[in-house]
Parts: sequence; C-alpha cells; structure tokens
Amino acid sequence: MWEYVAPLRDMRFVIERVLDAPASWARCAAFADVDLDTAGAVLEEAARFASEVLLPLNAHGDVQGCTRDVEGNVRTPQGFAQAYRAFVDGGWPALPCDPAWGGQGLPLLVDAGLREMLVACNHAWTMYPDLLHGAYETIAGHASDALKERYLAEIASGQCLAAMALTEAGAGTDLGALRTRAEQRPDGSLAISGNKVFISGGEHDLTDNLVHLVLCRLPDAPPGTKGISLALVPKILPDGTRNAMHCDGIEHKMGIHGSATCAMRYDGATGWLVGEPNRGLQAMFLMMNSARLHVGLQGLGHQEMATQNALRYARERVQMGVPIAQHATVRHILLRAQAVTEATRVIAYRAALAIDESHHHDDPAQRDAAAELAALLTPVLKAFATHQGFHTAAAAQQVFGGYGYVREYGIEQQVRDARIAMIYEGTNEVQAIDLVQRKVLADAGAALAALLDECETEAGRASDDEFAAALRHACRDARDAAAALIEGAKVDREWPLRAADDFLFALAHTLMAWAWAASARAAAGEPDRAWAQAKVERARYGMQWLLPEGAMRWTRVVAAGRRGVPALA
Ligand SMILES: Cc1cc2nc3c(=O)[nH]c(=O)nc-3n(C[C@H](O)[C@H](O)[C@H](O)COP(=O)(O)OP(=O)(O)OC[C@H]3O[C@@H](n4cnc5c(N)ncnc54)[C@H](O)[C@@H]3O)c2cc1C
Repeated sequence: MWEYVAPLRDMRFVIERVLDAPASWARCAAFADVDLDTAGAVLEEAARFASEVLLPLNAHGDVQGCTRDVEGNVRTPQGFAQAYRAFVDGGWPALPCDPAWGGQGLPLLVDAGLREMLVACNHAWTMYPDLLHGAYETIAGHASDALKERYLAEIASGQCLAAMALTEAGAGTDLGALRTRAEQRPDGSLAISGNKVFISGGEHDLTDNLVHLVLCRLPDAPPGTKGISLALVPKILPDGTRNAMHCDGIEHKMGIHGSATCAMRYDGATGWLVGEPNRGLQAMFLMMNSARLHVGLQGLGHQEMATQNALRYARERVQMGVPIAQHATVRHILLRAQAVTEATRVIAYRAALAIDESHHHDDPAQRDAAAELAALLTPVLKAFATHQGFHTAAAAQQVFGGYGYVREYGIEQQVRDARIAMIYEGTNEVQAIDLVQRKVLADAGAALAALLDECETEAGRASDDEFAAALRHACRDARDAAAALIEGAKVDREWPLRAADDFLFALAHTLMAWAWAASARAAAGEPDRAWAQAKVERARYGMQWLLPEGAMRWTRVVAAGRRGVPALA
C-alpha cells in the first residue's frame, strides 16, 4: 500500500541534463574517475538498499520506537542494527569521503541522491548515519593529527557513529547561553561536565563506539558565542573503558520514533579539543552546513514519497464514477506536489554541486564563487525543502481523505515524521535570518546578484517565451526587493528581520522558476517525448499557478519597510 519507486530517471535527468554535472566533474581533478554511468550505478544500488532494506522497517520502527533500560542503554527498533550493518558493509557511509581515509571519493551530488532515497524510505533510521559526514568533515578540517588518525577512518567507514551535541535546556537557538564546562587536564585532554538535550543518536545499539562532538566552555572563556569550544568525546575511550557519559532519557516524540533523541549527562567525561579554544562554533559550522544540506534532502525525500503515494492512491480511488485524480481540485494538489518536488530536486542538487565545486574545482576563483553560492543556497534549501516536505505530506494526506488519517495507509506517519525537519538544525525562521543577514546584507547582495545572473542566463536558453519571460520577471522582482531591503536596512535595522521569512520563500520561488525553465529546456533533448512533454506541462503549471506566490512575497519584503509587526498585547 505504502510504496516507493526510486525516482532514478528524474535524478539522472537533473544530474545529466539540467545541471550537466559531468562537465563540472571534468573540471575537478578529484572526480577524474567519476562519470554518469558510475553515478547511475551507485544510485541504482542505493535505491535497492533504501526500498528493500529500509522501507520494510519504517512502519514497524514507528510503532516499536526506541527503549532505554535503567543503565541508560538504548535499544533501537528490531532490524535497525542489521540494516545499519548492511549499510556499512555496502560502503555507503564512505561514499563522499576522501580515499585517503578509506572513502570512495564520490561527489556529494551522488551522496545527495542516496540521502534523498534513505529518508524517503525511513527517516528515523536515516537519523543515525546522517551526521556521519558532517562529523567527518569537522574532524578532517579542524582536529589534531592524532585525533584524525584515531577516528577519521572509523567514521568514514561508519564503524563508529557520531552525534552532534549542541542543545541544552537553556540554550536552543541561542547557543551563546550554553553552560557545559570543559576543564583542561595535565595530559592535554579535557574533562567535560554538563547536560545536553535532544541529542539525536546520543546513545544506541547500532555501533559499539560513537563519538559526540560537544559544544562546551573552557574556564576563562568569554561569554556568548565567542567563548564556545568544541570537543570530541567518545563513548568508549582508547583504552577500551566506558567514558563518563550517560543517556538519562529518550524523548517521546510526535514522529521519527525509531530515532533515539537523548538527554545526555557528561560527568567529567574525557574529550579532546577540536580546533582552537573559543572557536568551536566556526569548527562546528562545517558539521552544521553538511547537516543543513542533509536536512534539506530530508524535505525532498518526504516530498517525493508523499507525492508518489498520493498519485497512486488518486488514480485508484473512484468517487463520482471517476478516479479522484480526475477531479480538478485533486489535480491541483497533485500537480502542485509534483512541480514543487521536481523543482526542489533541481535546487537541492545544484546546492550539492556547488559544495562539490567549492571543495574540488581546479580553479581557485571558481572554488570561491561556488562556496558563496553554496552558502547562499543552504539556508534556502534547508527551510524551503523541509517546509514543503511537511506541507506536501499534509496535502497528500488530504488526497487520502479519511484513510489518510488512519495508520494503515502510511501517510499519517509521514506527516508526523516530516514535521521535525522544519525545527531542528536551526529552525526555519533562523535559516531565514541567516539568509538575509549573513548571506545577503553582509556582502551587499553580491552573491545574490551572481545567483540571479545564473538564473537570467537560463532565461536566455529557455525553450519558449513564456518560461523566459516568467523567469526574467521573477529575477527582476528579486533584484528590486533585495535592493530596497539593502538600502532600507541601513536606517531600519529591524526591517530585514520583519522581512526574512518572506525573503527566503520569495527567493525559493525565484529558484523554482529557474528550475522549471531549466527542466523544460533540458526535456527538449529527451528521446521519450511523452515523458518530456509531461515534465514541460508540470513546469508550466508551476510557472502559472505557483510562481505568483513568489511575486506576492517580494511585494511583502518591500512592504515590510513601511509596516511594523505590532507588539503583542
Ligand atoms: C527530534 C529532535 C532532534 C534533535 N536533534 C538534535 C541534535 O542531534 N543535536 C542538537 O544539538 N540538537 C538537536 N535538536 C535540538 C534542535 O536543534 C532545537 O530544538 C532547535 O535548535 C530549537 O531550539 P529550542 O527547541 O530550544 O527552541 P527555541 O530556541 O526556544 O525557539 C523557539 C521558537 O523561537 C524562535 N526563535 C528563537 N530565537 C529566535 C531568534 N533569535 N530570532 C527569531 N526567532 C527565534 C524559533 O525559531 C522557534 O520558533 C533536536 C530537536 C529535536 C526535537
């Protein structure tokens, strides 16, 4: 009833025809051996793993959930540990890691396809390996050689899992308020003491060892975010003894029941500094950026899963003598879901490609430009894709009518599972603020202008005048609103905050317009004409029915300069 057909054809279409990733790989020496066939073969295998191993565990993992015994040991749902062993044996954790550390050296773009499919089939299970790559990057980028030697290969291979320990009861969005302490020991290690909450995979039975990357404060640290350090704290110490860290409880949550969300206590636990003292947030940003891309991909996975199941159901369910898919109101829901999902995939994969280029492009200037683009796209992707992940699931639930509200049909679980992605990894509101303040205002709109140039180049290649005009119009709206905001923010410092949410969603619509135009252009080269024509029609639907919301949002960005948000009574 709840099925998954991996969208391999669409993935390949975006990678090959829309983004022409092979041309980019040819300009990255690190990807000299990567070609479309390799990427395609990897994604096909990944699709098999996701749909044959993970999907069958999804509903049952939701019902069974995780349990914790009195000693703080956490048991994951039946089958999760075996599935994880199969994942490690298949070499999946190491896909984008450096071969020097046992990785396969494949592009993040290919890894993005893997992530999308894992989440679509089992979000809860995917939470465990989802932080591995971020931990790998943080350690590779900032840890001492000794720590790298000790942990990096184990993390790349997935033998050792990783958790990201930022949040405390009094310090959520405001990480500057965190209180976990780190005392220097004579042997150079740290003694970590404090409590963290909501730590995904803080304790579990998938691997013998796991490492926590813990944000903490050294004794003389300045207050706020300038005094935060980062420590690596393993569950099992190098001498084989258990470290002084305990899981005090696991949360009872709305969704992702198979993911253990742990309250952690560190009682003088042994750890080691990663990066420089008081510069832990800078080091952690590597992990958080990777995690934000992954969370954006979670949103995409949910969109795809909800869309294809709603479509299947609507083609079979007959009311008033016809399948409900033929009723215009239901068609709207389904077309919206398809058009947004397809556009989100283009945006997500473009972000992954930009990250790949920022690391590996042969030309340093191109690396810098790609890094700016990735920084700009990451908050948009995280917030927009996860918003759509939840809202597409909720819209799909509507298609199922009353059956969507009961368990057997799968969509009820998906609505619950999809919700968290809007909250964690920096709430979507925080992403919007990050976008406006750090990615647009900070460089007076330079990175945004470069992105809009890329969009307008696509308008010049558009397959018909309607697509070209709509995309050019969206770019003009974006430039005008951004210019007004940049000027206005100089005298009204709250304007960007009042406008942030609209700005992010408006930009996401501009990017969708770019994605639809690019998809319609690329479809022209597809030999399967019926498939290509259907894609063009969905893109046209997006331009005609969905893009106007972007224009409305840009208008509100400008209007926010004149309108205050009243204080609450
Ligand atoms: C299932 C789950 C898994 C998680 N996994 C992890 C994990 O692995 N590691 C980890 O460290 N944390 C994890 N978290 C914590 C998560 O990242 C935080 O819950 C999130 O960052 C928000 O913090 P908070 O809950 O304290 O909310 P608050 O910070 O109190 O925010 C509440 C509301 O106020 C808004 N708000 C707060 N400050 C501002 C501001 N300055 N400007 C505008 N709006 C603001 C927020 O957007 C939000 O809407 C997880 C949480 C959950 C529920």
